[in-house]
Amino acid sequence: MKKITVVGAGGKVGTAISYALVSRSIPTELVLMDINEKKARGEAEDLRHCAAFTDTMNIRYGDVEETANSDIIIISAGAPQEANITRLTPLKKNVAIYKSMVPDLAKNSPDAIFLIVTNPVDILTRLTIELTGFPKERVIGSGTLLDTSRLKYYLGQTFNISPNNIEGYMLGEHGDTQFAAWSLLRFAGIAFDDFLEMKGEKFTDSERKELEDKIRKVAFEIVACKGGTDLAIGLSIATIVDCILNDKKLVYPLSSLIEDAYGYSNICLSLPTVIGREGVLEKWVPKLNDEEIQFFKASCEAMKEYTDIMFEELNK
Ligand code: NAD
Repeated sequence: MKKITVVGAGGKVGTAISYALVSRSIPTELVLMDINEKKARGEAEDLRHCAAFTDTMNIRYGDVEETANSDIIIISAGAPQEANITRLTPLKKNVAIYKSMVPDLAKNSPDAIFLIVTNPVDILTRLTIELTGFPKERVIGSGTLLDTSRLKYYLGQTFNISPNNIEGYMLGEHGDTQFAAWSLLRFAGIAFDDFLEMKGEKFTDSERKELEDKIRKVAFEIVACKGGTDLAIGLSIATIVDCILNDKKLVYPLSSLIEDAYGYSNICLSLPTVIGREGVLEKWVPKLNDEEIQFFKASCEAMKEYTDIMFEELNK
C-alpha cells in the first residue's frame, strides 16, 4: 500500500500534484483534503475517471480521520498566490493554517513523511518539524527543486543541450535570496567553465546574474498571466514522492533542517539532499566558492529572521 494525502487538494497546486501522482500511477490510495470540501470532492471524482488509463487506485475526498496512516502527507494548503508580493508575505496567514491542522494530521499518521509545498516553504518546513515533533528526516520542503529545473531549462535553451544532461543547483531559500551554485555546475560531467572553454563560448558574470534574477522572478510573471504556478511544481512533487516510495536515493535540492552548514543550524533551506524511503538520508554541505558562501549566508540570515517571526506567531 502506498497511501498519499494531499492537503489543499482543491487548489491549483494541490490539483496539479494529484494529477501528476495519478498520471504516473504512484499511489495506491490517494486522499484529497481541503477546507473547500465541494471542490476537493469534484477533483476526486474527475481523477477517478483516469481509471482506464492508469493503474487502478482508490481516490477519495477525506477529512483528517480519512488521512490516517498515510505514508506521505503533502501540504499545499494556504493563502492563494499573488503577483507583486514576496513568498514571505503570507507567512502569518499560513502559520495559522498549519497550526490548525498539522498536529491532527501527524497524530493520525505517526509514521508519515511530510512534504511541504505552501510558501514560504522553508519557514513552513521548519514549522512542521515543530508542530509534528517528528524526526527532522521526515519533514521535507520542495525547496529550490523547481528553481533548479528552471535553471536547467534556461541553460539547456542557451547551449542547445538537454536539461537532463545538466547537473547543478539553485540553493538556499525558495525565494529572493536563492542563488545558482555555478562552481558545482556540470554539463554531462564537464565543469561549466571547462565546457565554455571547450566550446569557445562565453557566459559572462552579468549574463549569470541576469539568469539568476530571471529564475527568482519568473514565478511572479506566471502568476500575473494565469493566477499561479502549478504544473511544474505538480510534477516536481510527484518526482519526490516516487523517489521516497521507491527508496531511489536520488539527490535533489530540497529544504530540510540544516546543521552546521557554513556555521548555520536550526533553520530549513535547500542544499543537495539524498532522499529515500526514510525521508532525508543525507544533507550535503558542498564546497562553494567565496561569493557563493556569501550568498548562502545571506539566505541563512533571511531564513533566521523569518524563522524567528514564525516562532513568535507559533507561541501566540
Ligand atoms: P489556491 O488558493 O489555489 O489553493 C490553496 C488551497 O488551500 C485552497 O483550495 C484552499 O481551500 C485550501 N486551504 C486553505 N486553508 C485550508 C485549511 N485550513 N485546510 C485545508 N485546506 C485549506 O493556491 P495554490 O495556487 O494552490 O497555491 C498553494 C500554495 O502553494 C501557495 O502557498 C503557493 O505559494 C505555493 N506554491 C509553492 C510552490 C513551491 O515551489 N514550493 C510552487 C507554487 C506554489
